Amino acid sequence: MIGVSILGATGSIGVNTLDVIAAHPSRFRVVALSAYRDVEGLAAQCRLHQPELAVMVDEQAAIELRQRLREAGVDTEVASGSDALQTAASLPGTDCVMAAIVGAAGLLPTLAAVRAGRRVLLANKEALVMAGNLLMHEVARCGAQLLPIDSEHNAILQCLPHDYAGDLDAAGVRRLILTASGGPLRTLAPEAMASVTPEQACAHPTWTMGRKISVDSATMMNKGLEVIEACCLFDAPAERVDVVVHPQSLVHSMVEYVDGSVLVHMGHPDMRTPIAHALAWPERIDFGAAVFDVTQSPPLEFEPPDPRRFPCLALAMQALSAGGGAPAVLNAANEIAVAAFLDGRLRFDAIAPLIEQTLAELPAPEVVSLEDVMALDEQARRVAGELAGRLPG
Ligand code: NAD
Ligand code: MG
Repeated sequence: MIGVSILGATGSIGVNTLDVIAAHPSRFRVVALSAYRDVEGLAAQCRLHQPELAVMVDEQAAIELRQRLREAGVDTEVASGSDALQTAASLPGTDCVMAAIVGAAGLLPTLAAVRAGRRVLLANKEALVMAGNLLMHEVARCGAQLLPIDSEHNAILQCLPHDYAGDLDAAGVRRLILTASGGPLRTLAPEAMASVTPEQACAHPTWTMGRKISVDSATMMNKGLEVIEACCLFDAPAERVDVVVHPQSLVHSMVEYVDGSVLVHMGHPDMRTPIAHALAWPERIDFGAAVFDVTQSPPLEFEPPDPRRFPCLALAMQALSAGGGAPAVLNAANEIAVAAFLDGRLRFDAIAPLIEQTLAELPAPEVVSLEDVMALDEQARRVAGELAGRLPG
């Protein structure tokens, strides 16, 4: 039995992970589950999967969950607070940790799982954007294994040679090509960007996801974060990672080799596919994936991204080439901007200016330790928060 802990169990990735696990009860055992404050959701998951530990970050929600589980006769220990996330990430009996908390809050628990030498299934891309070098260094030092859940990176992993060891040239790879759906605003007139609502921005055409990543997809910051993620995961320089818009979301990414071969990963847009791949790796498991009939596929379109419509993509590239702590600043400013937009305090077309101005105030700060990253994250949030009050809402 493979013991699995899921951080961010009540979210979109968490629920999909439990769905794959439920299809293989004799292969996987749920050890720990966590959520921020969704008592209803976590209680139902605990009743079904009977984990040893449930972590609720919110104290009051933890009290309610404890009571619910006692009444239901479920023997799961309930802990609260963010520190308990690190316990859940490194609990004995956990072989595999799904890191599916959204945003910077996922960094410390992900790091705890890495330091415990676990197989870490990484959905929480923000952790890599903030502290990529540090995290990758710890993966090697602690004998952990990092498998990407982001569909593009999981696709690239599947298109690379099995023994890929971080050297594109040695593997004969010319480029990594990330596909992007273009999100719900791909064809919106530029003058209409100012009045985009949270509902519009979250109405993704091909994927159902949490609200933060949905807004990131609408601005295409998501693809910017993913370029940074790809550079870290595959040890690739920025100039060898390209982005192509592919509205059908059937090609999940590609690897171009020096002999002209382009290996393409295709399938329905279903996050359970990369999740199942990483959970069972190097084996393959069936979770009931819908058959992909190529003869029924719509025509596949590919086009370059429009930099005028999606300025966030260029900001991410700018942060990547500035290096040091710039990606952490980018990530913090983006989290503040997206939260303000979802709260109705910031206009959609003010998201990019807010990030640009935060990057200008904190150009290429140096980071060597985790403490540096955390301090920089806090500082960038402060700067971005002040800017949010001055930009159009
Ligand atoms: P979501 O909003 O649906 O779920 C987030 C989960 O994290 C929930 O369980 C929530 O309770 C928990 N959480 C939120 N804030 C927290 C905090 N401060 N401390 C502890 N826990 C907290 O998000 P999601 O769509 O499942 O995305 C999760 C991560 O996976 C993100 O980093 C996202 O970029 C990445 N990802 C998601 C998808 C997808 O299809 N949803 C695809 C690729 C990558
Ligand atoms: Mg993705």
